[in-house]
Amino acid sequence: MAVQTKYRTCNLCEALCGLEIQVENNKAISIKGDKQDVLSHGHICPKAVALIDIHEDPDRLKHPMQKKEGKWEQVSWEEAYEYAAAKLVGIQQAHGANAVGIYQGNPSVHNLGTTLFSPDFVRSLKTTNRFSATSVDQLAHHLAGTYMFGHPLLVPVPDINRTKLWLIVGGNPLVSNGSMMTAPGVHHKLKDIQQRGGKVIVIDPRKTETAHKADQHIFIKPGTDFWLFAGIVSHLLHTDQVDLGHLTDVIESAQVDKIKGALAPFSLNMAAEKTGIPVSVIKELIHEFTTAESAVCYGRLGVSAAHNGSLCHWLINCMNILTGNFDQAGGAMFTNPAVDVRARKSRAPKFARWHSRVKGLPEFNGELPSAAIADDILEPGEGQIKAMITSCGNPVLSVPNGKKLDEAFSSLDFMLCIDIYLNETTKHADLILPPATGLETPHYGIAFHNLAIHNTAKYSEAAVEKEAGTKYDWEIFSELLEAYQKAKAAAEGEAAPESQSISLEDKLDMLLRFSPQQLSLEELKKHEHGIDLGAHIPMLPQVLKTDDQKIDLFPTIYEEGLKAVSTHDESEEAHPFMMIGRRQLRSNNSWMHNLGRLMRGRDRCTMLIHPQDAESLSIAEGQMVQVSSKIASVRIAAEVTEDIMPGAISIPHGWGHHRKGTKMSVAESHAGVSFNDLADDSLLDTVSGVSVINAIPVQLSVPAD
Ligand code: SF4
Repeated sequence: MAVQTKYRTCNLCEALCGLEIQVENNKAISIKGDKQDVLSHGHICPKAVALIDIHEDPDRLKHPMQKKEGKWEQVSWEEAYEYAAAKLVGIQQAHGANAVGIYQGNPSVHNLGTTLFSPDFVRSLKTTNRFSATSVDQLAHHLAGTYMFGHPLLVPVPDINRTKLWLIVGGNPLVSNGSMMTAPGVHHKLKDIQQRGGKVIVIDPRKTETAHKADQHIFIKPGTDFWLFAGIVSHLLHTDQVDLGHLTDVIESAQVDKIKGALAPFSLNMAAEKTGIPVSVIKELIHEFTTAESAVCYGRLGVSAAHNGSLCHWLINCMNILTGNFDQAGGAMFTNPAVDVRARKSRAPKFARWHSRVKGLPEFNGELPSAAIADDILEPGEGQIKAMITSCGNPVLSVPNGKKLDEAFSSLDFMLCIDIYLNETTKHADLILPPATGLETPHYGIAFHNLAIHNTAKYSEAAVEKEAGTKYDWEIFSELLEAYQKAKAAAEGEAAPESQSISLEDKLDMLLRFSPQQLSLEELKKHEHGIDLGAHIPMLPQVLKTDDQKIDLFPTIYEEGLKAVSTHDESEEAHPFMMIGRRQLRSNNSWMHNLGRLMRGRDRCTMLIHPQDAESLSIAEGQMVQVSSKIASVRIAAEVTEDIMPGAISIPHGWGHHRKGTKMSVAESHAGVSFNDLADDSLLDTVSGVSVINAIPVQLSVPAD
């Protein structure tokens, strides 16, 4: 058969890069960037090529696997659904609906089928014990969207195609290609800003890959971002440097005054003392930000999954709004996507309607913080979780206190995992249902077009056909739902509901047609490189979903949050270093570490330490160091570098493989240690209950052996 060229969007991360794939005899033989792609213009990262490796990975599961007397056995799909449904219904009948918990990992929003078809199944479980990766990642952005703009997905995106000053705090977009900001090819965007006379400033405890390309990098003590933002916003308000511009009609001026009063105790001197950034540097930063033709502040994981992360994202929005850099070209802007999941009337914010059973953490948007899972499984009592379902996630490696979660999962009565690997989490399963994945599935990035730096729409057909006998994720969720409803109806002596079959394409087509741009799937299919829907345009007030179609600049949750700002210096003496994470280009959170193409070269799971700290502790390059937090210790090789500030160390997250019972071909030299074994699950953002995974107090020692 002749070689065919297929165009597809990479769904491994948020960046939505267009791929040009050569396919011969239903086998992908090469992958390169699609230069005609309307969003990515040919950019790809090394992970894209590894899509072939995932497709052909001998570790990958393709058929349902059931654990019988401790051994894995392949079973039919029908047998698997029947078994799962009987167990889930049986446990709920005996212990209540909340006895079943469900955790959804990040790839749930990277896979179109799971995005569109898992919600019906999840809702049918009627459990309040729903969890996801959101609460160890970007929840603070959604909380600000909910309370300030009326919808969790009203998350403003930095207009980096036009800005003159991009201030990046706690983010590394050169490696992520945007995060909560779909921006394939960030390195070009940085250069473009510089070439048009603009400036890029990075504030981070580590001189990241982005910081190396920026015009200025400023070290900040881990976990102190709140004092920086509070000091800056307070200074703007108290020195009359506020310019609401065209936003005067959508903001109550009384709220501006109220914030001014509430932030009065926070000064630039206090910011300098807490952050370690000299007052003169902060003043210069404010001057540049307020006098630039356009400017935008973007905060990411180092800010959102850290102490006071929720307050930080409220303050970042305030900073952009009060300086006239909101809903304006070059500032923070809302997108205008073809599938607009925000296109619904306002509703009361879904926050803290219930709390987790043991830790009392607040629900957000129907989900509880993942830091609650382990205790809610392990602690006996009414409402205890007895069964877990996980979908596309490896929480043992990606949620704080992974060891406790490991223990908790091993104590469950039943565990069902929808996943393609037998990994550190799914090894605890009784049943694994592996979906077709990657090149075998069509794609439309519903969530990420919503966060993109340019409005585009693109649907891609699958590049290769899936293997006979395997199932797509949307088939698994539909068929599981049907089996569950049937078993539940039988247990309750009722008739099973009629199954509602709708295809993936029909569902997507409906979403396209009901969105403001009124596209159709048929139209999208005519454009294999995507449709360019134009640069961002001012969207206020029409995009706001608040009751009065105004921005709520000072929601009560932040007013209350300011009264309970956490200082977190209690363990500084016992644990004198602060640990932060780091994202890596050739890694994808907790997976892809078994793919040879990405793992070539030296071990990348190392601890970064400043030369001054290394010298004081007699730590040499490559030496094994014991890192201990309040909850655990690991041994890891030191990498001595001036790229990390004194007093901080950095360990990448998602590693820690080579555990008994997994089937992941990871070289021992590249197994790494788990950041989340050290991350303390009691460290939480006080407003939201989100896990603190940056600024974890640790101590270092050199083992004698
Ligand atoms: S940046 Fe993300 S979307 Fe682009 S090729 Fe890499 S993994 Fe795929």
